Amino acid sequence: MTMTKTEEIRKLYDEYVMPTYAPGMALVKGEGSRVWDAEGNEYLDFICGIAVTNVGHCHPKVVEAVRQQLATLSHVSNLYYNEPQAKLAEKLAGIGLGGKSFFCNSGAEANEALIKLARLWGNPEGKYEIVTMKSSFHGRTLATAAATGQTKIQVGFEPMPEGFRYAEFNDLDSVEAAITPKTAGVLIEAVQGEGGIIPADPVFIRGVRELCSRNQIMLLCDEVQCGMGRTGKWLGFQNYDISPDSYSMAKGLGSGYPIGALCASPSFSDVFQPGKHASTFGGGPVACASALATMEVIEEEGLLDKAALSGARLKKELECMAAGHDHVLGVRGTGLMLGIVLDRPAKPFTQRMMEQGLITLATAEKVIRLLPPLNVLDREIDKALEIIRNCLEEN
Ligand SMILES: *Cc1c(COP(=O)(O)O)cnc(C)c1O
Repeated sequence: MTMTKTEEIRKLYDEYVMPTYAPGMALVKGEGSRVWDAEGNEYLDFICGIAVTNVGHCHPKVVEAVRQQLATLSHVSNLYYNEPQAKLAEKLAGIGLGGKSFFCNSGAEANEALIKLARLWGNPEGKYEIVTMKSSFHGRTLATAAATGQTKIQVGFEPMPEGFRYAEFNDLDSVEAAITPKTAGVLIEAVQGEGGIIPADPVFIRGVRELCSRNQIMLLCDEVQCGMGRTGKWLGFQNYDISPDSYSMAKGLGSGYPIGALCASPSFSDVFQPGKHASTFGGGPVACASALATMEVIEEEGLLDKAALSGARLKKELECMAAGHDHVLGVRGTGLMLGIVLDRPAKPFTQRMMEQGLITLATAEKVIRLLPPLNVLDREIDKALEIIRNCLEEN
């Protein structure tokens, strides 16, 4: 009996790839909001490789920028200047805090850099603790797993690196209580992603900003998932009219070309001095060209406003739908970062959606996560809504 292409690929995985994931299908091609599996079936991609392909799969402008840079100069290390890095840093200053950036290759690395920056800054005064939130997610390296306020990420890897204290998200008193004379900063996601699409309460996050200023400690934002236009603003915290002292980015920054960034306000832009932090691949010309092109697409195509509009419409339609289903508790999120909250495990629902041609993701057990591309078309939203409706009803 001959195997399907997917079965062939799965067999190789079973034999040679460590089983840290449990994929269901093999994807071979993407274009805009759509992807195709190895058997040629088409899907609407409403998860974007987890908030990565924010301008859609294989956007021609991004593909061309990467192709050109790859064929011109692919890598030089940070012992030399490269123009794409300089231009990307300038661009990031323009959308964010106006200061400087450090480049690395992933979200976890960007958060490692964020934590190291806060520690180095606090070091002369003996401040090193970082207060993080329960149900947060900051990555899978040892330090970022320790920063993550979910024990399931940490179990089995003990002893975890020290210096992290945990507070309740959206509970200002709890953050205040976690701050000690040794605290260097408070780390927060404006919208918790892995935690179940939970937006920060405006009073809470503004209160945390004030608390940090009053205690002369850093407010650190993890923008890895909620940044890059996902919430209808460049950065999640911009929905609250607050400024952190430093923040991390990754996921959607390079449209799939791995890149992470740490951005700081001018006051914290020169904490790292030569020799204090480094990355071989960080800020490489191809990754930076990809990020630059991605940011240009977001600007030229007005995707921040589009994401806000499409998100508002999708959320409203989902809320109407939710009202008709006892097992749907509600809809959460901002822009195109949305979660359908159920009273039961979400996985059987996301599985059925996939079978009907819509890729979503179960998160925090009972939440269906939706992260469509910022340039998702109205008719693609309609199609997705139809599939979601079918699948919620079939229960
Ligand atoms: C995905 C994610 C990370 C980790 O990013 P990696 O690139 O997987 O290391 C960190 N923080 C948040 C908020 C994330 O969503």
